[in-house]
Amino acid sequence: MISDTHLHSAFSMDSNTVPRLNAESAESSKINTIAFTEHFDGYLDGRAPDDFNQDDYLREILALKEEFSGRVGILTGIELGMQPDKCIVDLCAKRIEGLTLDHVIGSMHYVSGLDVYDSSYFQGKSKRESFSLLLTETLDCLHKFSYVDTLGHIDYSSRYAPYEDRQLRYGEFPDEFDALFKFMIWNGISLEFNTKTAGRVPPDPEIWTRYKELGGELITFASDAHKPWLVGYEFGKYSEFLKNLGYQYTFRYENRKPVAENL
Ligand SMILES: [Zn+2]
Ligand SMILES: [Zn+2]
Repeated sequence: MISDTHLHSAFSMDSNTVPRLNAESAESSKINTIAFTEHFDGYLDGRAPDDFNQDDYLREILALKEEFSGRVGILTGIELGMQPDKCIVDLCAKRIEGLTLDHVIGSMHYVSGLDVYDSSYFQGKSKRESFSLLLTETLDCLHKFSYVDTLGHIDYSSRYAPYEDRQLRYGEFPDEFDALFKFMIWNGISLEFNTKTAGRVPPDPEIWTRYKELGGELITFASDAHKPWLVGYEFGKYSEFLKNLGYQYTFRYENRKPVAENL
């Protein structure tokens, strides 16, 4: 089974999972490799960033890598919460400066300084306004975070939007998608298939056919699990979904380089 390139343990502020339990779960689900991509989010309102101790993290994850050698591949990583404001851009760049990591994900958790998770971002906005702005701000962020390997959960708005129709569809935002995909493909930034979102709102096949049409090849699989039993969540189902759209490979990142795996 393919690799899970994005999951969390107790090093993230919103998970209490003992890292070993993720590795054991991966082994029993025959997941090839997992990457511990813990949260780092800076804030504009003066709050201290949500962060973790990098030394403790590396000690524990690298010991696990040793322990599970030959059974489950263990990779290191981080999920940076992207925001276009200079202070966040600088904070994130500084956070990973000089680090040896396998996988760096850039994700949108806040848009225009508002929290997407607690739905405050959506208040007073139509679906068109809120979804379009998220895609546009994602592109703005990727210009400033062009060193990230992967764009995390492009469909994050679908998870928490209060609308009856929460599906993110290519056909509704073709210009925003095309601009974003062209930039990503040109800069070698991979597109993540996030099965946590897919499990809540069905993915739009057209997003994936368009990415491919524009020349996009780099895709990663992510459960975004915060609990051990969600590691590799529905990977079988969604690898079939992508194979049916003509994809042959997915990728994991080792030492910041994409490694192809058969879907
Ligand atoms: Zn995230
Ligand atoms: Zn995550």
